[in-house]
Amino acid sequence: MVSFIETYKQRTPGSAALYERAARVMPGGVCHNPRFYPPYPVYLSRAEGSRIWDVDGNEYIDLWMGHYSHILGHNPELLRTVIAETAAQGTHWGIVHEHQIAYAEDLCRVIPSVERVRFGVSGTEATMYAVRLARAYTGRKAILKVRGGWHGSGSELVKAVHSPMDIPESAGILPEVMEYTKTISFNDTEGTVAAIRQCGSDLAAVIIEAVGQNFVPPHPNYLETVQAETRKAGAVFILDEVITGGRLGPQGGQGLYGLSPDLTTMGKVLGGGMALGMVGGRKEIMDLADPTRGLPKGRGVIMGGGTFSAMPPAMRAGKAIFNYLEEHAADLYPSLQAKGERVRTGVEEAFREVGISVRCFGVGSLYSVTFPKSEDADIYDIETIETRSDVRRRDHEFRLRMLNHGVYTMWGGGAISDAHSEEDLDRIIAAARAVAREMAAEQ
Ligand code: PLP
Repeated sequence: MVSFIETYKQRTPGSAALYERAARVMPGGVCHNPRFYPPYPVYLSRAEGSRIWDVDGNEYIDLWMGHYSHILGHNPELLRTVIAETAAQGTHWGIVHEHQIAYAEDLCRVIPSVERVRFGVSGTEATMYAVRLARAYTGRKAILKVRGGWHGSGSELVKAVHSPMDIPESAGILPEVMEYTKTISFNDTEGTVAAIRQCGSDLAAVIIEAVGQNFVPPHPNYLETVQAETRKAGAVFILDEVITGGRLGPQGGQGLYGLSPDLTTMGKVLGGGMALGMVGGRKEIMDLADPTRGLPKGRGVIMGGGTFSAMPPAMRAGKAIFNYLEEHAADLYPSLQAKGERVRTGVEEAFREVGISVRCFGVGSLYSVTFPKSEDADIYDIETIETRSDVRRRDHEFRLRMLNHGVYTMWGGGAISDAHSEEDLDRIIAAARAVAREMAAEQ
């Protein structure tokens, strides 16, 4: 019998050749680690709507959707039009313009906790500056982050992302920097409250996402409790909405769960398909970055996206998509939620039919697939995912098999977009059913 790896290789000779070239000039052949998977990733030539095509002409239903950024699907006409219009006037000026004001006004109008914004070009920058602002505002050092939480690759937050959690994620980061980054477990209310209280008057901020790793939903009142306890400690509550912003509603996760963070970070959907990040929040905190206030040197906060911040194409594309989301919110988000639910239950059912235990976590249009090691495994955070489920099977075997059946997944699932039709969902579930049968037959 031909193995799933052989099938993958037979379908993708062009990608194999490109990977060989890539590995000669880039570490691991990629510019961002999650884009590599063994034996080599598929190389794309085109994307449109819910579909992507690789260099060998294979078509896939995409669930990765540009790191979850394309909520309306790849390359929507709205985006193409705005980018073409903007490019005709010059892609990058490096001088202020009205488009950035207009988008900032929209964000402040729609998201009540956001009184001021600063745009940059990535989520990594946004979280890095949020931490700096929090430390400057409080005059404190310690930061609490969730174990497993990914807030980009900034030195202070790239800690305890993968197991084993107590080994540094990266060389080249000073232990002195890491010393002040402490960790909590998502959904562990008691442990989180205890950690906040233990940090006490050292605590500058808690940074957390509205959903857990692999899109595990928050337990009822968990996030509200974290917010309240953070405030009680006199620290800054940072909600990292790089994934959830625009994705779970125009007001993101804070709208869905009734939160009012002191600072919010956004990226991905925010840019409407272009590179864009943002820190926003309470005026009092954000104004520490105001160069016109005349704060003495060392009191103001240096922050900003630098050379390419607030580029006209990113501002106009982001605003156009954000306005579309706002206008269509009443239909769009319930529809995305229904699509997400359909795939989650469909994939679970496909595996149940063959006696393999699978659990699909998710909120709205986001979902992931987990292979629990036992039927009744209690899974609610990264450590329970890593110890009580078979992560390797999902990330290697399930991924390649789904690719062989024409579906591109990440962490077993991904982000469904408005461009995913009911027929696409049928095909995703049918692919999962075919994969389930193969896996059961080869067990
Ligand atoms: N925060 C969260 C929650 C993310 O998921 C990511 C990226 O995946 C980041 C921050 C970093 O964003 P970027 O990749 O744009 O630097």
